[in-house]
Amino acid sequence: MDIQQLWQGALAELEISLSKANFTTWFKNTNIASFNEKRIVVSVPNAFTQTWFEKKYNSKIIKALQRLTNNQVEEVHYRVETTRQTPAGTIAHSVVEKTVTIASAPAKEEPRKENHSGLNERYVFENFIVGKNNELAHAASIAVSKNPGKGYNPLFIYGDVGLGKTHLLQAIGNSLLKTSGGTMRVLYVTCERFTNDFIHAVRNGRAKEFKDVYRNVDCILIDDIQFITGKEGTQEEFFHTFNALHQTNKQIVLTSDRPPKAIPALEHRLLSRFVQGMIADIALPDLETRIAILETKCQERGMTISKEILSFIAASVQSNIRELEGALNRVLAYHELNRSEPTLDSTKSVLSSLATQSIRRSVTPKQLMATVASFYDITHEDLVGQSRKKELVFPRQIVMYLLREEAQFSYPSIGNELGGRDHTTAIHAYTKIAKAVEIDEKLRQEIHLIRQRLYHDT
Ligand code: ADP
Ligand code: MG
Repeated sequence: MDIQQLWQGALAELEISLSKANFTTWFKNTNIASFNEKRIVVSVPNAFTQTWFEKKYNSKIIKALQRLTNNQVEEVHYRVETTRQTPAGTIAHSVVEKTVTIASAPAKEEPRKENHSGLNERYVFENFIVGKNNELAHAASIAVSKNPGKGYNPLFIYGDVGLGKTHLLQAIGNSLLKTSGGTMRVLYVTCERFTNDFIHAVRNGRAKEFKDVYRNVDCILIDDIQFITGKEGTQEEFFHTFNALHQTNKQIVLTSDRPPKAIPALEHRLLSRFVQGMIADIALPDLETRIAILETKCQERGMTISKEILSFIAASVQSNIRELEGALNRVLAYHELNRSEPTLDSTKSVLSSLATQSIRRSVTPKQLMATVASFYDITHEDLVGQSRKKELVFPRQIVMYLLREEAQFSYPSIGNELGGRDHTTAIHAYTKIAKAVEIDEKLRQEIHLIRQRLYHDT
């Protein structure tokens, strides 16, 4: 059994229940160090993380691991382990046992598995599946990697979380390194890292070194630039970095979870820079694309899984490719542990707990109905009323669908919530929308937006 996959599966679950910021802060550079019968040791990069995991996330982590292993895991321990490259290129491990106290500061330099460009070799164009949802972003990325600094500059890619922005961004970098035989100076950084580097540089009087690093590149790839919001000093420095690079025809590629205009508190001069090149979005992948992605992921691992099962997985996870991979990992890990071949039934049962898992927080029917009503610009009375007008019937069906999907309501209680309708009406509405979602891209986006309002707006 592969402990890597088990941990990836656990991460995929944990990611769902945590905020993005929390997840990236705490779970990067973690791994399973060992798994002996009932005991798992998780390696973490520093003592802060260790304490945090023990105090805050232990039960979540155990639960995720138990679900994936069919309750084999009984205890989880956390061990500080830093991994670094030695000059000879072999990996040196230094293990710090539990005696580390919280008072000791976290490791200054993040242990980095990547090469000095910050790139991860896993993300390349070859394993990126192109569908209608990402065609433009993909084509623009290819163009940039063929002609850096000459065509689209900057290239700005945006889309929801888990839809492949980082993958494309890194693929550009990896491709540039490869075609230039390593002579191009490519730098991949997250916006967070750029900001931290800048703040440290200023604090330690090393502004010159900072400039040397960030301005002496042929291509800079900055991930999740939306996090620059509100940080005035960083915005100012980034503006100058941007200009210095742009004026000398160096390629700049940025990603964001929203279009430039929607980044709050973004200085106008930066906004105007962001929109002066090419803007490409990534939308939700359709069913076919999701199946193709699962097929590649299986191939990468040398596994064959029937199309029927892959279709089922692809149909269960619609809005996030990371979660889609997580679901696949979960299915694979489960069957490896139990040394069995996945069947449609076993896959269904492995994924059934995932469905309830992904409820980010509980929703009340009242909230749900209010969100749908305001989305379609109708009133609560319209939803529960008797009118058969098309523009009211449809939102009503959406409410019934979502009550079932998001709150696991029974059909009779769905009927009740909607002004005392019969349960067969609820069944009809649910099946109708569930079918339509599969084939209607626009409807899928619409429901996605409603879910977003439901869970992310307050
Ligand atoms: P984002 O940066 O938009 O949040 P990522 O680039 O991290 O998303 O993608 C999440 C996961 O999904 C990654 O493992 C990535 O390899 C995978 N992925 C996303 N889109 C595709 C695609 N079109 N083809 C193959 N894998 C993809
Ligand atoms: Mg990303």
